[in-house]
Amino acid sequence: MKQNKNGVWLSWNENITYNYKSLYTISTEEELQEIVKNSEKIRIFGNKQSSADIASGAATLVDIKSYNKILSYNDAEKTITVQSGIILGDLIEAVEAKGWCIPCLPDINTITIGGALATGTHGTSGKLLSEYITKCNLILADGSLKEITEKDDLINAVRVSLGVLGVLSTITFKCESIYTLHVKEGPENDNEWLPKIKERLKKHDFLRILWIPHTDKGYVITGDKINPETEINEDLGSSFLKHRRKASKILYKYTHIFPWLTSIANKILYQGFFSGTKEHKGSLYQATVTKSRGSTLELAEWTIGLDDFPKVFEELKTEINKWSNKSFIHIPMDIRFVYSDNSWLSYAYKKEVVTMGCVSRNAATADTYEAFKTIENIFLKYGGKPHWAKRFMAKDAEFSKIYDKWEDFKTLRRKLDPTNKFLNPYLTEIFNEKTNN
Ligand SMILES: Cc1cc2nc3c(=O)[nH]c(=O)nc-3n(C[C@H](O)[C@H](O)[C@H](O)COP(=O)(O)OP(=O)(O)OC[C@H]3O[C@@H](n4cnc5c(N)ncnc54)[C@H](O)[C@@H]3O)c2cc1C
Repeated sequence: MKQNKNGVWLSWNENITYNYKSLYTISTEEELQEIVKNSEKIRIFGNKQSSADIASGAATLVDIKSYNKILSYNDAEKTITVQSGIILGDLIEAVEAKGWCIPCLPDINTITIGGALATGTHGTSGKLLSEYITKCNLILADGSLKEITEKDDLINAVRVSLGVLGVLSTITFKCESIYTLHVKEGPENDNEWLPKIKERLKKHDFLRILWIPHTDKGYVITGDKINPETEINEDLGSSFLKHRRKASKILYKYTHIFPWLTSIANKILYQGFFSGTKEHKGSLYQATVTKSRGSTLELAEWTIGLDDFPKVFEELKTEINKWSNKSFIHIPMDIRFVYSDNSWLSYAYKKEVVTMGCVSRNAATADTYEAFKTIENIFLKYGGKPHWAKRFMAKDAEFSKIYDKWEDFKTLRRKLDPTNKFLNPYLTEIFNEKTNN
């Protein structure tokens, strides 16, 4: 165990800082238990890539990234057990080397498993990552260890729990046999792709739509499982396409001063990067997950029931196309689909949902980015739920209306953490608790 004293914690986006008294790096479960037991206020952090202020803000911090071993495989059950600080990319590579996959992956591979699970991280056309847990060890506020399996009722509270019920220590994932996806990508007008969502969800194994605000276009990505030997007409487009994020950053440089420049930038970006088609194949990880990002960004994301999505989408589009509008939205708005589950704080609790991302490519000026407010107002009006790791203003009053199990979760949290050890100032507000931070 290593301890640094009295330093400053800085988020990946460099827009959240906190002073801490002790920052630990650990490599064993026993070390983690001892630190939790002896701390008054503690947060665990992974790769610090959340936009929400959830990973720090306590006197004691633990950097979980060195707690990152693969502990075991069970070939008969296709399960893998890992320590929670492992980076997702490393986990997936290990899983693929066994000929397995986790069948729904987010579009980022640098996050830790602990961070991903705590915040309800998801991909598309499948379930939240946390739904693939079959067993985990949770370190409770008193430092004791609780093993939770998928048969325990507690699992539905723990799968998505923001690190406020305890610290996820070791995790066992259920995997499936690896498959090859045949991916096709190309632009479509909004009036073409929007009515086809349900039909496409039935027809394809993978569906994601990158909506390009202020252009009336979406970029539709479909994937179908094929025999790995099947020949396809591979076309990865021009090598120039890999500069999309850099070009966006340049074109959006002054959009915090002149927001309307965004709509011009989006038209240029559409022509340069989204107007062609592509075709390729690979595993879900190889073919659909972004492996490198040149720069930071700030994110919001909202979810809404599949049946409500078309009207919410039309309302958002109408709002941002008004002359009086101040919300100009950077590309793309990522539209994905999550199947229903039973996790109390999951966006997809007992309901199939559509998720819609909203990005600001200028992390430093995200506080003045009107789009985050507009998307929140519209989605909240229809009972939408925000992504726990991303930007939103909603608090306890709103969550008690949109989450059926909100009060149950709060009661359980108080029982497991009676001294509010795991709450930082931001989470204290979210749960409407009174605490001395
Ligand atoms: C470029 C980018 C792309 C993204 N793409 C997606 C996507 O496709 N889908 C999606 O759903 N999300 C996506 N996200 C959000 C991302 O998955 C979350 O922000 C995730 O939490 C980041 O992991 P991290 O390791 O950086 O966690 P951190 O930000 O460091 O921590 C997140 C939370 O997890 C808690 N935590 C960490 N480890 C543990 C543990 N062991 N036990 C208990 N709590 C713990 C922390 O206390 C904190 O509350 C994206 C984010 C970025 C920046």
